Amino acid sequence: MIETGDFSFDNRLVSAEETEEDTGLERGLRPLSLSEYIGQDKVKENMAIYIEAAKRRESALDHVLLYGPPGLGKTTLSAIIAREMGVNLRITTGPAIERPGDLAAILTNLSPGDVLFIDEIHRLNRSVEEILYPALEDHAIDIIVGKGPSARSLRVDLPEFTLVGATTRAGQLSAPLRDRFGIVQRLELYTPEQLTDIIRRSAQILEIPCTTDGAMELARRSRGTPRIANRLLKRVRDFADVLGSGEITQQIANQALTRLEIDQLGLDSNDRRMLDMIIKGYGGGPVGLETLASALGEEAVTLEDVCEPFLMQLGFLSRTPRGRCATQLAYQHLGYPIQGTPVPDDGQLLLNDKI
Ligand code: ADP
Repeated sequence: MIETGDFSFDNRLVSAEETEEDTGLERGLRPLSLSEYIGQDKVKENMAIYIEAAKRRESALDHVLLYGPPGLGKTTLSAIIAREMGVNLRITTGPAIERPGDLAAILTNLSPGDVLFIDEIHRLNRSVEEILYPALEDHAIDIIVGKGPSARSLRVDLPEFTLVGATTRAGQLSAPLRDRFGIVQRLELYTPEQLTDIIRRSAQILEIPCTTDGAMELARRSRGTPRIANRLLKRVRDFADVLGSGEITQQIANQALTRLEIDQLGLDSNDRRMLDMIIKGYGGGPVGLETLASALGEEAVTLEDVCEPFLMQLGFLSRTPRGRCATQLAYQHLGYPIQGTPVPDDGQLLLNDKI
């Protein structure tokens, strides 16, 4: 048995989940147009065509499903879609719509062409989802009026609207709901180069002096996620102000991130503990996600949504039908001998795989 320590994602600096602090920070940093939206080139190119076509036809854009890990720009993109279409945006989340009546109230208040953004759409409950089907397909909802034997169904027409659904887990969407989206786009983790551009843009908006090397250092350690990049920028500014001249240089960024226990590749102590658990607790795996989650005192979905995408992008974790396995690269990064092979004195290991 190994120590799990405090495995907590609360207030985690490199968590991709939105915190209250982010909400204030992000308000001024969200790109407002597709041209300002950095990266995700395929998604942008496709969306530009669909938006242009809908505008030419003077009809609402087809329903859009955006999926991918948190903090990659799904909410931002939905606001851009509404703006480029020249319509209003209404934002809500799956768990906030508790009853069919809540959704009916939202839908009947939409204006023609409006975009309704539902975040975490995989968490809509079944009875609410059933109201959504005719709304998406026929622009109408069926409302039950009265109770018992005298109850009857009343069809209410809705304006044409666009639903933009966002989810971290497309696989959890019911097939009938998934089939009603004409446009399905997957957002990918960002490359360090794209994150460097995002950080430089944010630094300019926030008037934080930042060298290119400084931005690149932050970018490399932001887990492929713009939300984390912006958060690190803000945190590291404090270090630059107090320990340096106010400018974020590579040296300051490195010093600050090391103090914040974010390593060279962007892993924090929780990522390392997760890998440690697989390696030391389960011989490198395979270990089932649920087993791993309970050993760490964490929810399986959090591990799956927050830790895994990045660890898999780095090539540190593989998912097999029998469970999660730590790869040789993970052993190497954490300083463990590779599957029984002693680490050479200089710590250099000859691996064919590159990160
Ligand atoms: P999600 O809805 O996927 O969780 P958000 O749309 O809330 O993510 O994005 C988080 C923050 O990251 C935004 O406030 C924005 O500042 C920044 N961001 C996201 N995508 C981009 C992008 N492509 N270019 C620049 N900034 C971005």
